[in-house]
Parts: sequence; structure tokens; C-alpha cells
Amino acid sequence: MRQPEPFKIKMVEPIRLIPREQREAALRGAGYNVFMLRSEDVYIDLLTDSGTGAMSDRQWGGLMQGDEAYAGSRSYHRLREVVESITGYPHVLPTHQGRGAEKVLFPVLIRKPGQYVLGNMHFDTTRAHIQLAKGRPVDLVVDEAFDTSVDAPFKGDMDTGKLEAFIREKGREQIAAIVMTVTCNSAGGQPVSMASIRETSRIARAHGIPLIFDAARYAENAYFIQQREPGYRDKTPLEIAREMYSYGDGLTMSAKKDGLVNIGGLAAFRDEELARQAGGFLVPYEGFLTYGGLAGRDLEALAIGLEEALDPDYLRYRIEQVRYLGEGLREIGVPIQQPVGGHAVFVDVKRFLPHIPPHQFPAQSLTVELYREGGVRGVEVGSLMMGRDPETGEQLESPFEFLRLAIPRRVYTDRHLDVVVEAFGALEGRKDAIRGMRFTYEPEILRHFTARFDWV
Ligand SMILES: *Cc1c(COP(=O)(O)O)cnc(C)c1O
Repeated sequence: MRQPEPFKIKMVEPIRLIPREQREAALRGAGYNVFMLRSEDVYIDLLTDSGTGAMSDRQWGGLMQGDEAYAGSRSYHRLREVVESITGYPHVLPTHQGRGAEKVLFPVLIRKPGQYVLGNMHFDTTRAHIQLAKGRPVDLVVDEAFDTSVDAPFKGDMDTGKLEAFIREKGREQIAAIVMTVTCNSAGGQPVSMASIRETSRIARAHGIPLIFDAARYAENAYFIQQREPGYRDKTPLEIAREMYSYGDGLTMSAKKDGLVNIGGLAAFRDEELARQAGGFLVPYEGFLTYGGLAGRDLEALAIGLEEALDPDYLRYRIEQVRYLGEGLREIGVPIQQPVGGHAVFVDVKRFLPHIPPHQFPAQSLTVELYREGGVRGVEVGSLMMGRDPETGEQLESPFEFLRLAIPRRVYTDRHLDVVVEAFGALEGRKDAIRGMRFTYEPEILRHFTARFDWV
């Protein structure tokens, strides 16, 4: 039996489907870019799972108990203790969100311009902060991550053969750090196995290279290890998380995901010196060491959210709800990334709209059509997001053309997800008539957020 919602709903926010003509007008006004829509014009919002979750009554109560002290607040110390109890890392720096943690860490790790930061697959802000710190991001995820039809349990794994070969070829001095992203967001929320984490750690330690977790969805990753990896069935998500962190030296985390808060982030370290150096950037960029751009109440809500996200019933409900949407789509023949990942269903638009070439952004076309059809907002993860080659200016071709449907935590019911499947059912019948898109305005950096489009 599926895990029912391990909560009851005691506060609601009304939503409604505006009429089709209004959706069409909203799309035109947004330049066919769903980032430009007003959220009140969206019926079911699957744009992101970041900062969109619902807090619990305990967390709302925690807001009232937050200690608003500039330095050394009770809420900071409570958060620090919770983070240490989960990770074993005693040195904890709060940040305003995940990218704040990346901003203070990478200038510390990258000691010489041009050094590499090796990862299974870096998230886009991680990639940007590595580059801003004059480092070079490299993705070394296993090959099966790129084949959406292969149903493998851990498609976010590091290819440790490639990792060792890369370090040997470039030399240890050229490597600043290894970053393990759990779950692997850019590969479709695919989990990383403990075996891969352990082996990556062995390689990192043999060469004296720091291993950092990008821990935005570490609790979801722990659940997948419990379900799929031999030897972990009888361990709790907390025990699995502790083992995982024991293999690394620190973490950056967007608390807007498995922290179950609407804003917040963390960096945490085993080593005091690393924490000191990152703290040196934290103070000017984010705020003093014990608040890092957050209010005391935010720290309090985060401390509670970190505990709630490891609750076995919550995690089972969470992962099964995402899978429910994936199964619903698969049943009506919509091709999706297999198996379904932790936080989102990724529709394989290369297979759904094969008549639209990558440079006409097929997943953007489908994103627009899904909103037009059902008031549902997803997001393109493909060649549009990938952008142009920084040296030649040529449009790059992404290995995937995905429409991502990210599910906010504890927000929508299964019936809402049925509505999403119904919208795809309606699109199925007219998909051959869907056209590609072209830019009418193309910004230079992070263009997908603010670009405008028209039909080809
Ligand atoms: C969201 C995310 C980040 C960045 O965090 P923000 O809170 O959005 O700044 C970094 N890495 C991963 C894997 C993420 O999912």
C-alpha cells in the first residue's frame, strides 16, 4: 500500500484554473517564458521544489521562538547542534540560500586559477560559483545517466573510473575539490549509492582532495539508499545520512529543499580551518557567522525542518508521490526519465516531440503548451537552459531535452497530480502540431530566466 500523507491539512491557500483565453493572454504577456508568469495565474505550480514546500505547525511555532540576536543566538546554537547530530560536522555556517554557501566556499577551495572541481554532475549555481572563483567544473557522472530509457537504481553515481583517470592525468595539484551532489539534480534527481560515495571518498582521501557534499536533497538520497542498496533496509534515513557524511569533509546545502523551509542555506565542515576561511567570506557577503543572512526565526524553522525531513513516513510519502505522477504519465504513454527521481518527473521531450530540433527548444514549446492546456507550470531543462558556448557563441546541444515537473513538498494532493496527467492526455492528441520556438529577446547570462520567445 502507498504511504498516505503523514499529516493533515490545517491551513489552505485557494488556487483556481483561470479560463483558457486568460491563460493565452498571460502567455503572450510573459513572452512565452513561464518564469514571467504571475503565480496567481498558475493552477498547479511545478516550476520548482525549491522554497515552495509547506512548513509544519512545529515550524510555524518555531518562528515565534526564534531568537533574534545578531551574535550567538539560541536559534543558531540549536541549528548547529541539529546539523552536527546529522552530519558529524561541528562547524556550521548559515547562509541565505544554497548559492550563498557556494559563494563563500569555492574561493577557499580553489587556490590557483584553472583548478578543476570534479563532480558527479554540478548544479548550475554550483557551476557558476566554481567559474566565478576561477575554477573549472567537470562532470563525471556514470554514462547510464544520459540514457533516459535505462532503469538503473543509482543513475547519479560518480564514474569512479573516470574520476581516478582524470586525477592521474591532470595531477593532484590541479584538483581543488570533489563535489558529490545528492540526489543528482541535473541528472533528473537520480540518487547516488553509498558504494559510489565510499569509493569516491577512498579516491579523494588517497590523493588528499577534499570531498564536499552538495546536500540539497540528501534525505531523499538516504531514502533511495535504504530502498535500493543491499544492506541498508534495516537502517533509518538518519543512520544512512550519518554514514554518508562520515565519508566527506563538509557540505553546502540549499535548505529550500530537504531543509523544508522557504529560504535558507548551510555550509558545514569537519575541519575548523576550512570553516574559518569560509567564515572570512561569510561575514562580508552573507552576514555574521551565527546568522549568515537569515533571521533567528528562519534558523529555528530550519533546525526543525531538518529533523522532519528525515522522518521515514514523510520520506516514503514524498518519494512515492513523485513516483505516482511518473507512473500516471507513463501509463498514458508519455516518455519520462526512468526510473523516476526524488523531487521531480522529467518528461523526455526528445521522444515526445521528435519533430522539433534542439535549437528550437522542444521542451520550452511543451512547457508553454502544458500551461496553455492545463494551467500547469513546469520548466525547460535542455538546450535553452544550457546556453551558448562561451568561446564560440554557438548554441550548445544538451544531451537531454527535459520538461521538469518538480513537486513541492507537502503541498499538492494526488488529485492535483491527476490533473497534470489529464493535461498531458489532452496534449497527446495534438502534439504533432506543436511548433518550435525562437528568441525575440536573448539575455547574455542565465538567459532562460528572462528571455522572451515566439513560435517558429
Ligand atoms: C537548489 C540547489 C542549489 C542552489 O541553492 P539555492 O538555494 O537555490 O541557492 C545548489 N545545488 C543543488 C543540487 C540544488 O538543487
